[in-house]
Amino acid sequence: MRITHVDIGGCEGCSFVLIRATKKLQGIEFKSRLLGKFEIENEEMIIVSGAVCLNSEKVDVLKELREKAKILVAFGSCASVGGITRYCRGGQEPKPEHMTFQPINAVVDVDYAIPGCPPSPRMLKPFIDSFVSGKQSNYMQIFKAVAKVKRLSGFDLIDDVVLQNICIGCGACILSCPNGALQMVGGKPDLIVEKCIRCGTCYVRCPRASQILVRRYIK
Ligand code: SF4
Ligand code: SF4
Repeated sequence: MRITHVDIGGCEGCSFVLIRATKKLQGIEFKSRLLGKFEIENEEMIIVSGAVCLNSEKVDVLKELREKAKILVAFGSCASVGGITRYCRGGQEPKPEHMTFQPINAVVDVDYAIPGCPPSPRMLKPFIDSFVSGKQSNYMQIFKAVAKVKRLSGFDLIDDVVLQNICIGCGACILSCPNGALQMVGGKPDLIVEKCIRCGTCYVRCPRASQILVRRYIK
């Protein structure tokens, strides 16, 4: 299987994981634009890392990638749900000229989204294997569901999980929040609203919320 990777605006942490992890995978021919320039042909799978800056040429790059990809995958939280780039206002490293970032499904249809900052390399092997072997497991549904989500935040987590009384108090959301916007109060997470940058990480890390996404978007 031919897989091509293109980064369109991230810190390269996801790229690093992807390039290292794919070296160990069997049955694929992998190339990354970070490792050298090449023309992108019609590809079986294109994996995009990084969020898309709406006031940049990356919008057109992304549209072209969509046209050329049989399967388009968002890799990492920035590409999948916006991640830490969500509330950029310009002036931030590492892309100080960029102002407005969105997950890539704000511009093109995405087939699968694998969130994580960066995603665990262990997630990549079963994901790729499912295409190489042609056997897709239920495990893939969450990646399909996240690909359809346009916006997620700590507010959604509180509304959909905590206020619905299905929170199990595991604390995964609090540990995953990059901005310290969640705290445990009475055994359940509480949102410090002014700190939430709407990166979506807590929602996709919550075992209850991920089931909600699959039910909402796939079944
Ligand atoms: Fe992101 Fe934290 Fe807000 Fe959740 S609560 S969306 S992890 S900033
Ligand atoms: Fe509750 Fe989900 Fe947070 Fe666990 S990850 S504490 S279930 S909201």
